[in-house]
Amino acid sequence: MNLAQNISLKNYNSFGIEVYANYFSGFSTVLQLQEALDYYVNFKAGNASSILILGGGSNILFTKNYEGLVLKNELEGIEVVQEDDNFIYVKAGAGVGWHQFVLYCIQNNFAGVENLSLIPGKVGASPMQNIGAYGVEIKDVFYTLEAYHLQEKNIVQFTCEDCNFGYRESVFKNKYKGQFAILSVTYRLNKTAVFNTSYGAITQELDKMNIGTLSIKGISQAVINIRSSKLPDPAVIGNAGSFFKNPEVDANLFSLLQKEFKNIVGYPLPSGSVKLAAGWLIEQCGWKGYRKADAGCFDKQALVLVNYGKATGKEIYELSEAIIASVKNKFNVLLQREVNIF
Ligand SMILES: Cc1cc2nc3c(=O)[nH]c(=O)nc-3n(C[C@H](O)[C@H](O)[C@H](O)COP(=O)(O)OP(=O)(O)OC[C@H]3O[C@@H](n4cnc5c(N)ncnc54)[C@H](O)[C@@H]3O)c2cc1C
Repeated sequence: MNLAQNISLKNYNSFGIEVYANYFSGFSTVLQLQEALDYYVNFKAGNASSILILGGGSNILFTKNYEGLVLKNELEGIEVVQEDDNFIYVKAGAGVGWHQFVLYCIQNNFAGVENLSLIPGKVGASPMQNIGAYGVEIKDVFYTLEAYHLQEKNIVQFTCEDCNFGYRESVFKNKYKGQFAILSVTYRLNKTAVFNTSYGAITQELDKMNIGTLSIKGISQAVINIRSSKLPDPAVIGNAGSFFKNPEVDANLFSLLQKEFKNIVGYPLPSGSVKLAAGWLIEQCGWKGYRKADAGCFDKQALVLVNYGKATGKEIYELSEAIIASVKNKFNVLLQREVNIF
């Protein structure tokens, strides 16, 4: 066993930030994961709290070198593990590309993830922040997952309830932050599709595509078309998708805001609070299209912060601080970052 040392992470994060990891290794079996951990602890005096499990690096902002061990998850494999009258249960290795998994489902006519087409990253990160798009979240199709406890060195099963999913949240981002390596995820997919076209943009795109009969393939293509037209491709401009979460405010604050800002966008939630569009708030503060050196706010979608080339993680982070401060100042609303900061 050997761990690579002083490795650049530039090609391992979609922001394209140049930082270095003290130690780096990939693992494509649980045994390799265990060996790398043991070697790090026994021969490099490392400990489990300085280990970063990396997927596609599409939801990370590195603001400094990583002082520890980065373990890149490369666990492959997709298999049907169970079936009943209504559902099919598919287990995927944590290192399988998320969109590759979506395509597998579409080819096999397993419904439920078509609205989540083209989200970058790996299967293993999908429960981390309960990925979501166009009215669907991973919790809607999640069945169970297996994760390796980095300190206790055992494999633990998590049900949907155990994961405590919320809006871009799970137990892995909070209580168990940094404690587990997710090894595989089993999803429960529908044999008979229940189409979710509640987002106006999807229906408009389907009309444009002139699709006769609605299908999961058609919805997936519509989502791909919409995403490709408005989100920057990380291969061209470094980014991690939405940098901030859409904030939730109580109904009183929302009605005060409505009086002052006639065009404010708000979606009522079952809890009684109102979800605001973070992109709109940021745009109103004048940030859309802003650029300082190579750090900027994307000109087609203010929610996305971008690296035009040589921005440092610190510069992007400072830009996010300035955006948070100006949104707080103008609307009295505190934005929270969706992206994981290291
Ligand atoms: C252009 C673009 C569009 C995007 N659109 C969306 C969107 O619509 N909806 C959405 O929800 N997200 C979106 N994202 C964010 C991102 O794609 C998702 O959060 C994705 O799930 C991250 O996967 P990853 O493998 O790249 O995770 P990484 O960035 O590698 O990791 C993210 C976090 O999860 C942890 N982690 C990763 N894998 C494991 C594992 N196996 N075990 C334990 N911890 C792990 C990491 O340590 C880190 O803390 C977008 C990103 C981009 C660049």
